[in-house]
Amino acid sequence: MIQRRKTRMVNVGGVGIGGDAPVALQSMCTTKTHDVDATVRQINQLAEAGADIVRIAVPHHEDAQAIPEIRKQSPVPLVADIHFSHLLALEAIEAGVDKLRLNPGNIRDPNKIREVVRAARDRMIPIRVGANAGSLDTARYGHPTADAIVQSALDEVHILEDEGFHDIVISLKSFEVPVTIEAYRKMSELVDYPLHLGITEAGLPWEGTIRSCVGIGTLLALGIGDTIRMSLTADPVEEIKAGLEMLRVLDLRQGGITIVACPSCGRADIDLHATAQAVKARLSHIKTKKPLRVAVMGCVVNGPGEARMADVGLAGGGGVGLIFAGGESLNKVPEADMVDELVKHVERVVAEQEED
Ligand code: SF4
Repeated sequence: MIQRRKTRMVNVGGVGIGGDAPVALQSMCTTKTHDVDATVRQINQLAEAGADIVRIAVPHHEDAQAIPEIRKQSPVPLVADIHFSHLLALEAIEAGVDKLRLNPGNIRDPNKIREVVRAARDRMIPIRVGANAGSLDTARYGHPTADAIVQSALDEVHILEDEGFHDIVISLKSFEVPVTIEAYRKMSELVDYPLHLGITEAGLPWEGTIRSCVGIGTLLALGIGDTIRMSLTADPVEEIKAGLEMLRVLDLRQGGITIVACPSCGRADIDLHATAQAVKARLSHIKTKKPLRVAVMGCVVNGPGEARMADVGLAGGGGVGLIFAGGESLNKVPEADMVDELVKHVERVVAEQEED
């Protein structure tokens, strides 16, 4: 089990970040926030995929004006992403957002910062501050090293602390994974505020998922991190799917179907890749909260051992498929029927789990 670093908890519209709360999964809408229907539709898709919190961009007054209706329809807490404008921050708070993402250093005027902090405190709305290597003030902090990123974020934290505000979440983002890991490690030794993990601009889904999993996953395995966002150049639903799977791999989330499949080799007697894909597609409709392991193995030599260890398993070969469940060999079916048979047993086991 991963021993998570103890942080103070902030409350984002009923979802805890930090403390004993599970690592919260977030993403960000790609819609124009003032397009209420499109934004609510995407929030619902993200929530359905497993998002705990969703962020929306609020670059203009018309976006802030849309927040009350979006908030009313959203099944998950909302974070307003705001830069530079204290008026937009005040509007977003007034409109009912559950958290702000802004850097007070961008607002500059202490009176305006004080106004935002007071409004956030009155409504018990946390603020995420942080540093991003790409937008670091290099004239002030120099090259975006881990130390520079940490110092820049701490300066934002201190502005809020000076106003007596401590409902803070910190992010330290860089495209460079080693820099990001070092920055978060350093910060985790300096403060007990919850940390929002992300690898910024991680890229297209294949590369971005690997980059994010290495960066975010390493930190989570070290017990660092209280909420995560995978930043992918893709439909944000893909961010949630990838993030959820990473949390499950690290045993930071339980439940759902895990498919174990052998890589296939010269001993394989079936088209293992096509079979595993078919099983995945056929099981995609099953939304179980209980953990269930399904094995798809390519031969009857080494396959049965693994298939027997899964909750439901298949070992194909010699024109047949051997089906296993609960450690027992159940039956042998023609290869053409083996996926149907496997799916049938998965559905049966899930139904039994639900009855428990
Ligand atoms: S289970 Fe069989 S087919 Fe799959 S990798 Fe192992 S030996 Fe090869």
